[in-house]
Amino acid sequence: MYHPDDLIQLSALQHYAFCPRQCALIHVEQVWAENRLTAEGRIMHEHVHEEGDESRGNVRIERGMSLRSLRLGLIGKADVVEYNRQTDGTWQAFPVEYKRGKPKLDHSDKIQLCAQALCLEEMLNAPVPAGALFYGKTRRRLDVDFNEALRLETQKVATLTHDLIEAGLTPKPIYAKRCESCSLMAECMPKTIQKKRSVESYLKRMLDET
Ligand code: SF4
Repeated sequence: MYHPDDLIQLSALQHYAFCPRQCALIHVEQVWAENRLTAEGRIMHEHVHEEGDESRGNVRIERGMSLRSLRLGLIGKADVVEYNRQTDGTWQAFPVEYKRGKPKLDHSDKIQLCAQALCLEEMLNAPVPAGALFYGKTRRRLDVDFNEALRLETQKVATLTHDLIEAGLTPKPIYAKRCESCSLMAECMPKTIQKKRSVESYLKRMLDET
């Protein structure tokens, strides 16, 4: 169990799963670059949270709900939590996370959503078997089953993210396809730094050989 003073932002898991260096830049070095895409995402979240709670028959909707897990050491917010009335009269939570773009090839969004479900399970002491990601670009809702594999992956990423933030060390950049959609591309400079490192190691090899 984590101490309440040692909780990290739930969104850090999404950043870590996308790129550990991006996670360290944001959560260790406090680098944040607002660009058109991040501004659109932020405004989308603000609109969702402002819509308020509602109740329709067998569905209750809570927006901007605060979440916490001492087991995983996480704190954050769910955009939307739908509660669906079950046949036995109990209510089952179903988190929905809004994303500006389109579904990603990696698991980072699913991990963030699953982390919300694990927080809800701890807070409500009730199972949360599924949720959904809503993508603004495709206007589609992608249902996500919180199966054992995703739960284990999410718990592992939570531990790795804590380790990274506690160590306070930013990993070196490795240029990859994901960099093209990274909001911190200009601050990170993966191509420039990688090139500089390979020149330095080439010079070192040459000096070692002489
Ligand atoms: S530009 Fe690439 S290496 Fe740098 S933080 Fe973004 S994804 Fe990671």
